[in-house]
Amino acid sequence: MKYYSTKNKDLKFSFKDAVIKGLAPDGGLFYPKHLPQLNKSFIDNLHNLSLAEIGFEVAKHFMGGDIPTNKLKEICDDSLNFPTPLVSFEPSVYSMELFHGPSCAFKDVGARFMSRCLSHFAQESDEKITILAATSGDTGSAVANGFLGIENIEVVILYPSGKVSQIQEQQLTTLGNNITALEIDGSFDDCQALVKQAFQDKDLNKKMKLSSANSINIARLIPQSFYYFYAYGQLKNQNKNLVISVPSGNYGNLTAGLIAKQMGLPIKRFIASTNVNKVVPDYLNTGKYESKASIPSISNAMDVGAPSNFDRMMTLYQENHPKICEDLKGASFNDEQTKEIMRKVYKDFGYILDPHGAVAYLGLQEELDTTNELGVFIETAHPAKFIDIVEEVIETQIDIPNYLKSCLTKEKISIQMPNDYQDFKTFLES
Ligand SMILES: *Cc1c(COP(=O)(O)O)cnc(C)c1O
Repeated sequence: MKYYSTKNKDLKFSFKDAVIKGLAPDGGLFYPKHLPQLNKSFIDNLHNLSLAEIGFEVAKHFMGGDIPTNKLKEICDDSLNFPTPLVSFEPSVYSMELFHGPSCAFKDVGARFMSRCLSHFAQESDEKITILAATSGDTGSAVANGFLGIENIEVVILYPSGKVSQIQEQQLTTLGNNITALEIDGSFDDCQALVKQAFQDKDLNKKMKLSSANSINIARLIPQSFYYFYAYGQLKNQNKNLVISVPSGNYGNLTAGLIAKQMGLPIKRFIASTNVNKVVPDYLNTGKYESKASIPSISNAMDVGAPSNFDRMMTLYQENHPKICEDLKGASFNDEQTKEIMRKVYKDFGYILDPHGAVAYLGLQEELDTTNELGVFIETAHPAKFIDIVEEVIETQIDIPNYLKSCLTKEKISIQMPNDYQDFKTFLES
């Protein structure tokens, strides 16, 4: 398997190169040269397979020999080792809870898989790799946890000062060891722009080996397709069409789902659910794409005005708007609607939605034809990660998982920095 840049199909890279570089030299995103078609017997047998087993079978097709089979098996078993249950509180609707990993967010899936791939490559070449990650919330802690204590790897996390929740900030800033948190005086898009500029800085890249760990890294994207296969396996005996609603910010999660469909997984359609940052729903409705400055919301991991995976979605559908609209609908909701549904679902069913899952649930409700369809919405974060807003909305105290509890009492250590590339570069070189 080779990977090309979404900006230039003639540039080709191995899986290893694509993982280490993160972003193609021309600023494009890595994309598989062709998508493997998975055979019917694999799809028919999915209900017998664990997430790790599914991961191994799917991932094999993407490695191009860069990771030995036994090592890949180890990576899958080790990274995909927490439950991803489908929980139902209402007929025909399932919440796929992807927040039972160490940082309580779905990004654990991709971050854990990627960290182990990269660690394998770093060991192989005995080189030091610096990982740059901009986060609007969850990415940071999932990445930091995935890499904590791994030899030959330094992690630098950039987050927008004052724009992540207290719990998220504690998760980012209390790990120490090979993890450094930079608190940037700017927005998430500013953080992302600093990271992008560093990757394009030839001078800097001569001096150090940089890699990304955002959803733009192909080793984060690929494993995010695994749980769509798992969901299908768990629900297929109900013999109904599956509709999956994905709460989206940078659209890595959703793109992975669309890739799974293209590899042969029978999902009827996807819903791109988001908050008021609705450039993708707008594109789906009008055929015109226009990135915007991000607007703050209570589902802040989706406050993205220029989603990085949009180029991959366009590559996947060859920029064919009618074709993408066959597989994908857009939905957008404001904070009031989000809060209202959180309150209602808690009151009616006793189920606690986090603000992101709530947006996905709203998108599903709008689009689901319950007579012949089953709906899955993705719960991307444990509600306790957004404890202030969740408790305020449902007017009830909620339980905090032990992992989150322990980081709340540790001392925050971060480096404050203006939104300035020179300062950032100087820091990296020091
Ligand atoms: C990152 C994140 C999202 C958005 O995922 P993308 O892959 O960037 O679209 C949604 N919900 C939560 C809780 C997240 O952390």
